[in-house]
Amino acid sequence: MNTHEYQAKEILAKYGVVIPKFCVASSLEEAEKALSELNAKDVVVKIQVHAGGRGKAGGVKLCRSKEETLEACKQLIGMHLVNNQTGPEGVVAHKVLLTEAVDIKKEYYIGAIIDREMARPILIASPEGGMEIEEIAEKSPEKILKLPIPLNGELKRYQQIHLANFMGWKGDMAKQGMALGKALAKAFMATDASLLEINPLVETPDQKLLAVDAKLSIDDDALFRQQEIAKMYDASQVSKNESEAKKHGLAYISLQGNIGCMVNGAGLAMATMDTINHFGGKPANFLDVGGSASKEVVCEGFKIILTDPSVQAILVNIFGGIMDCAIIAEGVIAAVNELSVKVPLIVRLEGTNVEKGKQILKESQLDIIAADGLADGAKKAVELLH
Ligand code: GDP
Ligand code: MG
Repeated sequence: MNTHEYQAKEILAKYGVVIPKFCVASSLEEAEKALSELNAKDVVVKIQVHAGGRGKAGGVKLCRSKEETLEACKQLIGMHLVNNQTGPEGVVAHKVLLTEAVDIKKEYYIGAIIDREMARPILIASPEGGMEIEEIAEKSPEKILKLPIPLNGELKRYQQIHLANFMGWKGDMAKQGMALGKALAKAFMATDASLLEINPLVETPDQKLLAVDAKLSIDDDALFRQQEIAKMYDASQVSKNESEAKKHGLAYISLQGNIGCMVNGAGLAMATMDTINHFGGKPANFLDVGGSASKEVVCEGFKIILTDPSVQAILVNIFGGIMDCAIIAEGVIAAVNELSVKVPLIVRLEGTNVEKGKQILKESQLDIIAADGLADGAKKAVELLH
């Protein structure tokens, strides 16, 4: 689950990360109130959306007067942002963050992720801030430091010193940087984060280290024990299909292609997507209906696929282990009874109660193209697109 910058900053501040004072506003009245609370000479206004790259897209404005700030808020509240981080639908900013502008002497990068190759959480830092970390990794990998984060979240003192040396921090800056590294590692582990990023971390002319931007994503599977953060979920930032799927407990991700997929099991879903790609097609979504879905949940999942305007063919690929093929068939039919199917529907059913499932589909008189195995199903879905 992604959070907004202002939420990430609230959380990080609790762990001791130093953040310039900020307020949030969703209307001009709120913005005026925020301005008087901030009482700052220069103010930065930033759209709050679940995407980065806001600066380049005009979603971050440095303002030098009250009038300029209010004008910026007027433009930015309600701004629709489309960039490579949002997907083609884009996202709308319902809120802006107002913060006192800081003088920037130098920008750094610091963050944490789960490193799948090292199979552990790591802290990542680079003295080359401002750029995207992927770009630094490509152009000058020697400028990136990776430190394994101990599982209790307590960054060792020698690691903090290593961080300060690598970043070129001396004296009081080294002290601030060591405390920051420690606080970040703690926050990352304690919030069950999958990604934490401060880009840029800023050095001011008077030698203060400040987190000017913050990004925090939490592992969905840990939200049950992160109740406070789970409340920060913002459905307005997620595609309509994804938020609908979430309501029904379905694992669904929107993709760019045009073949709608309904599959059970994440592994089979990925194999299905790979096979579609192999035959030259592109999946419109990832959908794992799981093993214990009811007829109603299957129906809701299928409705999401049916109402997706980019879908030009549907592939149902079920290998019933725990999942009963009859439930899938009943769910599909329930959805079709509410909404008609206007695109080719290819079905591959195997496993538990497969005969009953096939019989139910047959009796429904639905125009179904039966597939003989995964490869056959994927091939037919791609062919029938044209
Ligand atoms: P992002 O583009 O979505 O990553 O948004 P950021 O919060 O990182 O802002 C983009 C850029 O705006 C930063 O890299 C800074 O260069 C600039 N910026 C943000 N806040 C301030 C500020 O307080 N003072 C100054 N001078 N620049 C800022
Ligand atoms: Mg940034």
